[in-house]
Amino acid sequence: MNKPFICASLIGLGLLASQSLFAQNPSLNARMDKTAESLEKKVVAWRRDFHQHPELGNREFQTAAKIAAHLQSLGMEVKTGVGKTGVVGLLKGGKPGPVVALRADMDGLPVTERVELPFKSEAHTEYNGQQTGIMHACGHDTHVAMLMGAAEVLASVKNDLRGTVKFIFQPAEEGAPAGEEGGAKLMIKEGVLENPKVDAIFGLHINSQTEVGTIKYRPGATMAAVDEYAIKIKGKQTHGAAPWSGVDPIVTSAQVVMGLQTIVSRNVILTDNAAVVTVGALHSGIRQNIIPEEANMIGTIRTFSPETQALVHRRINEIATNIAESAGAKADVKINIMYPVTYNDPKLTDQMAPSLEAVAGKNNVKLTPAQTGAEDFSFFQQKVPGFFYFLGGMTKGKKVEEAAPHHTPDFQIDEACFVLGMKSLCRLTADYMEQSAKGVAVSGK
Ligand SMILES: [Zn+2]
Ligand SMILES: [Zn+2]
Repeated sequence: MNKPFICASLIGLGLLASQSLFAQNPSLNARMDKTAESLEKKVVAWRRDFHQHPELGNREFQTAAKIAAHLQSLGMEVKTGVGKTGVVGLLKGGKPGPVVALRADMDGLPVTERVELPFKSEAHTEYNGQQTGIMHACGHDTHVAMLMGAAEVLASVKNDLRGTVKFIFQPAEEGAPAGEEGGAKLMIKEGVLENPKVDAIFGLHINSQTEVGTIKYRPGATMAAVDEYAIKIKGKQTHGAAPWSGVDPIVTSAQVVMGLQTIVSRNVILTDNAAVVTVGALHSGIRQNIIPEEANMIGTIRTFSPETQALVHRRINEIATNIAESAGAKADVKINIMYPVTYNDPKLTDQMAPSLEAVAGKNNVKLTPAQTGAEDFSFFQQKVPGFFYFLGGMTKGKKVEEAAPHHTPDFQIDEACFVLGMKSLCRLTADYMEQSAKGVAVSGK
């Protein structure tokens, strides 16, 4: 766990949020905002290029090469091939101070684009044995372009920065191909948070169903931990006309499916946190008059605290094992732990929310309910205090129900949000550094 550091001797703790507002450099912020605005066209062009040429997780070769060339052109120290295709740029400010990491993910998805855009993706590939298009259907193209823009803004004011910025362009957020390591976890394993050691990390996710101009965030558990499970019910095969001479895995697995529904409804403390247990597939049998030997089911688990996660895992095991036993069958349960909870350090969130309000306007920064989607930014947050927020990318005035969700062929982002995205990343960085200089920043040290 992180040990947040607050120099309480300088200020009353209750004044933390208002005090941090003073820890800003207004002239620096004004220059950054202006530069961000001047880069809008450039960022749009980058984004369209990435959108038209999406690459799947751990295969972001062209994307990474373009990013590396840009960071090098800004005079940064650049490492490539971190965690397969990841790119890391280091910008040393003119004054001493903390190391702030900014992260963007780079991967596209196996989705065939249906939106008629001049820069529509025509890329396609074979994925899990099927032909499919490739599309930036989660908006990671916008994340890359905005962070490249933020890098240019911050490089232009580097002499005035009180610390170092580490730009982390991460592969495979959506998961690595089968049998491969990848994503944030692999970058951390390869030392991305060390040399120099990162004090705090910030990241954003575009949202296709939140209006341009709006930023949403949540302190604490923000996105769910995700785990997957597989249950094999082993019965005894027999003739479909004589069920009494075998053990039916289909009837047993139907009972297990219903039993699993009671975990969330009867065991999880729903007033603390939500949870989800979904059965995503159930396969058994081959013919109408054969009771088969086994049934197999797989599913996903979403939780928001380690306690709920442990409870759900335990109950899946108990329910499957005991229902199977009561039927004379056997259950084999496997649970694979995947991404942890995306957890916004509450003190860091408190400290940085005023910076978001300053760039977006107080009324445009809103608290969001926890989301049952998952994000591998969570691995960074397990190591250092981190803050992850959502940037509106839906055209103003559009109805939410008419805006396609992420991961769908109709997914679309309004590029009008890019300037705010850049401004927010730069402001968080500069304000955090100013606050560190005044001893009011939360840090991973
Ligand atoms: Zn996604
Ligand atoms: Zn995403």
